[in-house]
Amino acid sequence: AGSLYVVATPIGNLEDLSPRAARVLGDVALVAAEDTRHTARLLRHLGIMPAMLSLHEHNEATRVEQLDARLAVGEDVALVSDAGTPLISDPGFVLVRELRARGRRIVPVPGACALVAALSAAGLPTDRFLFSGFLPAKGGARRARLEALAERDETLVFYESPHRIRATLADLAVTFGERRLVLARELTKAFETFLDGSAEALLARMAQDPDQARGEFVIMVAGAAPRSADAASVIAADALLTAMLAEGVGV
Ligand code: SAM
Repeated sequence: AGSLYVVATPIGNLEDLSPRAARVLGDVALVAAEDTRHTARLLRHLGIMPAMLSLHEHNEATRVEQLDARLAVGEDVALVSDAGTPLISDPGFVLVRELRARGRRIVPVPGACALVAALSAAGLPTDRFLFSGFLPAKGGARRARLEALAERDETLVFYESPHRIRATLADLAVTFGERRLVLARELTKAFETFLDGSAEALLARMAQDPDQARGEFVIMVAGAAPRSADAASVIAADALLTAMLAEGVGV
């Protein structure tokens, strides 16, 4: 049987497509793409013209049988999205879940991913982070989501579009106050920018320079500092242990 290759494509800079990705896209019988016209441009740039099929959130479930039939006769298939790594805030999860359940071979071909690129250059802790994708579009749901994350001590990572960046920063200002944010904009592109500061400071910056509100964004928020109550209880436990040791209590 054939394999499904899950192929990452660039998030802006075409040089970020790996040689392996280019080879796989040229070798497979079929490329399933989020937007075939968009992917056709990339493939033309590579000088390859494989057969293509659209796979997006509205037809993903119905594509499973079709693609599985191709794999069953021994053909290899590649899955790509418009930018970056498929399945990461992009279509493909249903397909991968269903094909894996059927025992098909699924091979990742890694490459660009906006959240990883953003974290790798932001200077916020990366040992633990919480990626929360796109926030809800509606204000109430968005604020509730942020509120639910307010106490997390990992670095928080969100995706955002230019349409909502200001509204989201305004909500971040309410929930996170003076907490440090890093905003990565237009990664790997000509106007790549990293801005650093509180949500309010970033909004002020956009008011001054509206270009800063254009393009694609990864928002990163420093995790919550340990609460002072927790810090106080650690100190108390330490004092108790010291006292017990001084008394010769076995521990
Ligand atoms: N699958 C993609 C990945 O691997 O990063 C993400 C796709 S998601 C539909 C698109 C969002 O990713 C954008 O709204 C933005 O938040 C983020 N993004 C994609 N490309 C970006 C870039 N060049 N600079 C900053 N953010 C980017």
